[in-house]
Order: sequence, then structure tokens, then C-alpha cells
Amino acid sequence: MVTTNVVIIGGGVVGLAAAAEISRHYDDVFVLEAAPRLGLGASSRNSGVIHAGLYYTPGSLKAFHCVRGARMLYEFCAEHRVPYNRIGKFVVADSRDQFDALAAIKARGDQNGVEGLDIVGREFIRRHEPNVASPLALYSPNTGIVDAEELIRALARIAQDNGAHLVTDTRLIGAEIRDGLAILKTSHDEEVSARVVVNAAGLYSDEVARMFGYDEHQIYACRGEYAELVPKMSGIVNGLIYPVPPASGHGLGVHFTKNMAGRVLLGPNARYVEDKEDYESNPTPLSEFYESARMIVPSLQFEDLRPSYSGLRSRLRPAHDSSFADFVLRYDPNHPFVIQAIGIESPGLTSSLSLGQTISSMVREV
Ligand SMILES: Cc1cc2nc3c(=O)[nH]c(=O)nc-3n(C[C@H](O)[C@H](O)[C@H](O)COP(=O)(O)OP(=O)(O)OC[C@H]3O[C@@H](n4cnc5c(N)ncnc54)[C@H](O)[C@@H]3O)c2cc1C
Repeated sequence: MVTTNVVIIGGGVVGLAAAAEISRHYDDVFVLEAAPRLGLGASSRNSGVIHAGLYYTPGSLKAFHCVRGARMLYEFCAEHRVPYNRIGKFVVADSRDQFDALAAIKARGDQNGVEGLDIVGREFIRRHEPNVASPLALYSPNTGIVDAEELIRALARIAQDNGAHLVTDTRLIGAEIRDGLAILKTSHDEEVSARVVVNAAGLYSDEVARMFGYDEHQIYACRGEYAELVPKMSGIVNGLIYPVPPASGHGLGVHFTKNMAGRVLLGPNARYVEDKEDYESNPTPLSEFYESARMIVPSLQFEDLRPSYSGLRSRLRPAHDSSFADFVLRYDPNHPFVIQAIGIESPGLTSSLSLGQTISSMVREV
């Protein structure tokens, strides 16, 4: 049996950010990833937005890690040549009646320490986004975009350069505790013993937690589907344009995201699915994306849209409950050498480096 210091379950951005940081301090750090390649889960099926931290409850882990994570991510991208762009974001109102809603989002952002937020009028919006018909918007200059796949590659490279072992095609299928060590069983019928375990298994983080007897949380898969604009229409918007988020329900409302490849995405919507691998069944009709999108850009035609990809959010709340749920990041109450990271949905990409740093400090405490 291989004996290791730290085993991280899951090779998405969170597991890899943790590995890159922990491997600076320890030898024998392993990442076990079930898929044939790193980062194939939510980490490469998202909008690629570096969120500023507008929406999250002040004092929450989401607010803290988003604001700190965005700052860290901009520095990291510049240093490690990961493509990014601080393009700014508009949250646009349909009418002046939504002023109070924008002011509330701004107040929350201010409380979270987001810098540069401003409520702007038609002229300012038109100068940046000539095709947006909105009298009023909240402007966030520090929201940006990142190439998530390049970020994954950079984190993997750093972890490997520090001596970490990134093992793909290997699923954790069971665990037991023996003599104060975690004995991990893999899909290759091997056993690995670890002094410290980090559960960063995304959609399956509840199932991995249960392998250690921790069953306080259930993950619900909530699909986010995208449409995109045909390439010749990608100049119709310049950056990130969101509606005022719905007062109840899931997600931020269908929005425009110009990604690092220059493609303009519409979405993601929010639809709960039973199966954690169900990316495709009963896709949302394109007309639904069109109806939402033309509220923001009225000149858009139905023919300008085409279907795109989807991702699955790791939700801690079932479909009927749209209340705020924070990230769970804690020592397992029964086995303190197991660190549980559960429900890392958006802004998990933005937060990844900050989460990695906190997880690394937690490992050192153990
Ligand atoms: C539609 C959508 C849009 C989003 N947009 C944004 C955005 O714009 N900005 C932002 O900040 N965040 C966004 N997010 C959230 C962000 O993508 C996630 O929070 C982040 O990628 C989570 O990373 P992770 O490493 O925890 O999970 P994952 O990337 O899912 O990685 C978990 C890994 O664990 C592996 N695994 C699972 N079980 C096991 C096992 N038993 N053994 C071994 N390996 C296992 C999986 O194969 C997977 O690779 C979005 C998410 C979605 C779904």
C-alpha cells in the first residue's frame, strides 16, 4: 500500500489550486481524479467570469473567497500568462423603477468590499454597449473573464513542478479509518493511505463525504445551459451584461458573456436534473434564450442564436428552495484530518485560489 501525506479527491480548479499550494509545503501530495483528464467537471463548463462579489451575503464564505479570490486570480493570471480580461460588467434595469434593486445590489457589493461600483445612466451604457436599450445600470469595472482551461493547466503545472502527483482515471470508491490514517480505495482496486484527505469532488462531494461517515449535506445537480450568438453577431455586445436577478428562483437570469475566445454566450439558465451526469436530456428551446436576450438587446434576431454547451452546478438546496447556501469548508467532525469542501458552486472558479490557500492552511493546522 502507498502511504502519502495528503490526498486530494477531485482534479477541478479547487482540488488543483489546493494541490498547487499544499505541495509548496509537503512532499507526497496526490490528486485523484476520476475522469481521464483534469478539469472536465464544472471547472471547464462555466461562464469563465471572474466575479467581483456583488451578490453574496456579507460575511459569508462566498463573499470572502470571491473578493479575495478575484484579486488573487488577476495577479496569478498576469504572473503565469493565463489569458484574462478585466472587461467590466453591467447589471441593466428594464426601467427606472428598478433603481432600488440596483441600489440594493450596489450596497451589498460595497459591504463585501467590491471596488468601483457605480450606478450609471443611458449615455454611459451606450458608450460601452451601443446595442443595449437600458436607462440605468450598475457598472462593475472589476468583473472580468478568464480562460478556465488555461487556468487549470497552469495550476496543474505548478503542482507538478512542486512534486505533486496528479493521477487521472482513478476514482475514490471507498474509505476507512485505520490507526489514525485514512485508507482510500480506488477504482483500480488499490489502497492508498493518507495522513490528510481533502474532499474537492464537486458534484460528488456529498458522496465522498459519506464514505467518511459525514452525511450532513446532499448535492443536487442544477443544469445551466447556454445558447451562443453566431460568430458574425459577436460584435453586438462588448462585455458582460446581466439583468437584475430574479427576486426568487435560481441563477442570475440569462445574461450575455463575451468569453476569452470572443464567443458571446447567453445563459446559463437553471434546471434541476435527477442524474449527476445529465448534461443534455430535454434541452431548453432556443426561443426561451431569445425571449430573455432580446429584453436586453432588442435588435437581436432569433436566427442569431444557436445552442451551446451546458454545465452542472453543485447545489446544496433542492429545486423548491432558492435560499442562499454558503460554501461548506470544514474539518470533518468525526475525522479532523479530513477536510470537506462541499457545495462549491459559483463563484467557485473566481474563489479557487483563495479556497486553495485556506485549504492549505487547514492542512498545515492538522
Ligand atoms: C453553468 C455554470 C456556470 C458557472 N459560471 C461560473 C463563473 O462564471 N464564475 C465562477 O466563479 N464560477 C462559475 N461556476 C462555478 C464554478 O465552475 C465551480 O464552482 C468550480 O468549477 C468548482 O470547482 P471544483 O474543483 O470544486 O469542481 P469540479 O470542477 O466539478 O471538479 C471536481 C472533480 O472531482 C472529480 N471527482 C468526483 N468524484 C470523484 C471521486 N469519487 N474520485 C475522484 N475524483 C472525483 C470530478 O471528476 C471532477 O473533475 C459555474 C458553474 C456552472 C455549472
